[in-house]
Amino acid sequence: MKNECNIIRDILPLYAEDMVSEDTRTFVESHLAVCESCSEKLNEIKKTAEFIADTDVAPLKKLKRKLRMKKVQTILFTAALVCSVILSVVSVLTAPQYIPYSDGLFHITERTDGTVILTFDESVTGYTFTEGDAETSGGIEICYIEAWNTAWDLHFIKRGEQSIVFSADKPIAVYYSQNNGEDDVFIYGTNPNPNGGMRTLPRLVLGQYLILAIFAAVICSVLLFVFRRNENVKVWLERILLAPISYILAHICTKGLLIKTFAMPRDFLIIILVGIFVYCVLLLGMNLLRSKKDVYKTTL
Ligand SMILES: [Zn+2]
Repeated sequence: MKNECNIIRDILPLYAEDMVSEDTRTFVESHLAVCESCSEKLNEIKKTAEFIADTDVAPLKKLKRKLRMKKVQTILFTAALVCSVILSVVSVLTAPQYIPYSDGLFHITERTDGTVILTFDESVTGYTFTEGDAETSGGIEICYIEAWNTAWDLHFIKRGEQSIVFSADKPIAVYYSQNNGEDDVFIYGTNPNPNGGMRTLPRLVLGQYLILAIFAAVICSVLLFVFRRNENVKVWLERILLAPISYILAHICTKGLLIKTFAMPRDFLIIILVGIFVYCVLLLGMNLLRSKKDVYKTTL
């Protein structure tokens, strides 16, 4: 038996790696079935092989995967950063600069078919005309016009003359909203309110959203402090905390510290869009910092 054990042990490393012929395998297995010490020897060989695989190849693969992840994250990080910067710049360039009322700003032509044409001078590149279905005063339909240009239009685009056509076959009052804190100017029709000044007020809801975001950020920070020892909760809280922070940063990038807006849907949409990219930047940036530490640890 002892002699057979020696032969078996010579073969065991090959057997463990499955590199023996069918006959040898049967021979080894029938011996292992009756010989406890050779079975133990085989287990030892297998463990050593696993250990070598673990310590040798696996970390390298892991490191490689981490480096590849890092590369992808760096690319995405850069892309998100570029997008948020471009979007912020475009937002500032295309922000409407409202034009205060002046005598030569537009001229009005009445046509015989009851339509009225209001034509702006060249300084105006954009306008809104809000018809007053919702708002009437003593049977008079009240309409508002606001006009603006943008840095973008002034430097890059010639839009030509802008004009508005509206119907005056019913009592109508058209006001020009200056959007600069001055009264709206009555410019056409029947003035329902000849003495009193009207003023279009800016919407301040962006300020409320900003306060809400600051509030959410503070709450998340407090929770983060409370759960600082719980890794799982911490990771999620950090991701949530980045959302209000992104919103605040996006507001600052696109509106500065202004909270007044006369173009609420536009401003809010842009803040959300920029905010999404800023969120990606922050999240990826955080992961990159973390993976940098990890790689460092692994290589140590
Ligand atoms: Zn044996």
